[in-house]
Amino acid sequence: MKLSNYPLRTLKDAPSDAELMSHQLMLRSGLIKKLASGIFTWMPFGLKVLRKIEQTVRNEMDESGALEVLMPTIQPSELWQETQRWDDYGNLLLQIHDRHDRLFCYGPTHEEVITDILRKSIKSYKQLPANFYQIQTKFRDEIRPRFGVMRAREFLMKDAYSFHLNQESLEEEYEKMSQTYESIFRKLELNFRKVKATSGEIGGSISHEFHVIAESGEDEIAFCDGENFAANVETLDGKNAPNGGELTYARGIEVGHIFQLGDKYSQSMKLEVLDSNGKNVNPYMGCYGIGISRIVAAAIEQNHDDKGIIWPKAISPFAISIIVLNDKNDSTVMDHAIKIYQELRADGIEVMIDDRDERAGVKFADADLMGIPTNVIVGKRGIEQNKLEITSRRTGETTEVKINEIVSHLKG
Ligand code: ATP
Ligand code: MG
Repeated sequence: MKLSNYPLRTLKDAPSDAELMSHQLMLRSGLIKKLASGIFTWMPFGLKVLRKIEQTVRNEMDESGALEVLMPTIQPSELWQETQRWDDYGNLLLQIHDRHDRLFCYGPTHEEVITDILRKSIKSYKQLPANFYQIQTKFRDEIRPRFGVMRAREFLMKDAYSFHLNQESLEEEYEKMSQTYESIFRKLELNFRKVKATSGEIGGSISHEFHVIAESGEDEIAFCDGENFAANVETLDGKNAPNGGELTYARGIEVGHIFQLGDKYSQSMKLEVLDSNGKNVNPYMGCYGIGISRIVAAAIEQNHDDKGIIWPKAISPFAISIIVLNDKNDSTVMDHAIKIYQELRADGIEVMIDDRDERAGVKFADADLMGIPTNVIVGKRGIEQNKLEITSRRTGETTEVKINEIVSHLKG
């Protein structure tokens, strides 16, 4: 990507209503644009990050054996009446009337839709267990949308739903999903913790959340490593861990939540299968969510300094950024830079080049703000001395590398 082709500018200051660092940095670097309260457009760099997170989640879900589907965003109110969640969810539901005055909602979650699909298409225990997932836009009419994409009204979620003949099978899949989540958040290079949680209006008894650790997190979590115990403080009765151990507290951002739902949905929606004795039973269900768009903000909360974002390599919009200190009267600098850019691209490396007609100070400040992990600085002096500076955004460390070794150095 050539920055000279990109029409938008970074901003020196964030709007005053952006309280959280990640929100400020996302707006200043132009990752997102606000359309209305809690509703955002993903701009090119932001979208690249979002897609990387999405792809990591997709790969790990596929690896676990779950099957990807794409359900409609719009859902008929009748389904929600069956489970009584039309009332339970209340004002969080964005209600829509069609031209025949039928009532719908924009889906905040999809237990009803997937249960409806299964009750119409499975008959026997032999078709279970099954786990379906999707990566899709949700809408929740949050009372206080804030912190940008952290608590938005429209946001991207991965949601999965599993169905089982019995509790034992549900627990097996629940454990598999938990391990899949650990693997996803490790791959995304996030510092996270799995904690015991409450289930809310989704239902069921057992649930766990995955929190990215950050000072600014809305939740408080408590843990005792000696007892291998960790919980959202919402679930705690006492001031100690179950065996009396002392609790340590931290703040967290909820990026994932898994639930054992039991037969709440299969009962109320009359999903039944024949078991091995020919008897009709209600399958057990699990559901598993990840806040894909919230992860972008959470990753920035965990990875920034006062100059800007410091992307983890796994989700950075680009691996390398070439900063060209061009000279209007001498095209050799730009020629060298473009050559390196093209060689890296030919090798499949995601690279951007700051080839704009801007002062060096502007380019360095933007590079710090954008947070690409590795910067290559191409200027007149470097070319004359036949070595270029490569700097790490995270450590600030600089290495000098001979020009004809740059590409192999960056590839390695
Ligand atoms: P919260 O407690 O933050 O309101 P929730 O418990 O209502 O979230 P779930 O129903 O568990 O959310 O949804 C699964 C995941 O979707 C959450 O773990 C979170 O990462 C993400 N998510 C939920 N609400 C939002 C939102 N308003 N904006 C962005 N992401 C969200
Ligand atoms: Mg939750």
